[in-house]
Amino acid sequence: MAGEAKPRWRRVVLKLSGEALASTASDETIDAATVGRLAGEIAAACEEFGVEMAVVVGGGNIWRGTNGAGEGMDRATSDTMGMLATVINALALQDAVEREGRPTRVLSAVQMAQVCEPYIRRRAIRHLEKGRVVILAAGMGSPYFTTDTPAALRAAEIEADAILKGTHSGVDGVYSADPRLVADALRYEEIGFMEVISRELRVMDLTAITFCRDNSIPILVFDIMRPGNIRAALAGERIGTLIS
Ligand code: UDP
Repeated sequence: MAGEAKPRWRRVVLKLSGEALASTASDETIDAATVGRLAGEIAAACEEFGVEMAVVVGGGNIWRGTNGAGEGMDRATSDTMGMLATVINALALQDAVEREGRPTRVLSAVQMAQVCEPYIRRRAIRHLEKGRVVILAAGMGSPYFTTDTPAALRAAEIEADAILKGTHSGVDGVYSADPRLVADALRYEEIGFMEVISRELRVMDLTAITFCRDNSIPILVFDIMRPGNIRAALAGERIGTLIS
């Protein structure tokens, strides 16, 4: 039955990196099978738990502001290209989630009237209340940020209970050191914001972490490439690392 199981959180922001839409198995920047799998998990979790989900999608599979800035391009222009990349990903995700039978709305921080709705806080909340998956595109609409910070900002604005930060690099949480380099690195099940900040454990942009600390928004860092993990996160299973 829809919404029968009790979720750990009632309303969440899922932060999805652009690279989570790609695949090592193909050269495509957007891999249809990967997006379809994620969309299936998102739709199923909304159905099972009745959870309200806003997805902040990144653009790193297509473009990052630092790509161009590193080559001497104007930083703000390069960042704008990155924001537009997130819109492409948002549309791919929208298509995939709707094919799973779940209604969605793409809300963009950069206005694109022919393509999607503008981001308006109250409208985002209304869509969520109606059971639509809200896909937030174009970050904050301002350069000099990555999509981690708008994930935190939007979570506060829409009064989300938590941020689900999906990783795609094979690192399934917050570790005492980089587990790809240090064999006995320890994964924390829970950790405080201050420790993440003071030890510079790079799981999310510092601006986003600081914002979440100031606004008491917990972050669950988990491996989104592992099938079943979105459900596990919402069911309250002990996966990843909870920063609070
Ligand atoms: N970006 C921006 N402002 C924002 C969000 C994103 O300028 O509020 C740009 C920035 O250049 C960033 C790019 O969009 O590098 C893509 O976002 P991000 O790097 O967060 O993508 P992800 O790593 O999550 O795939």
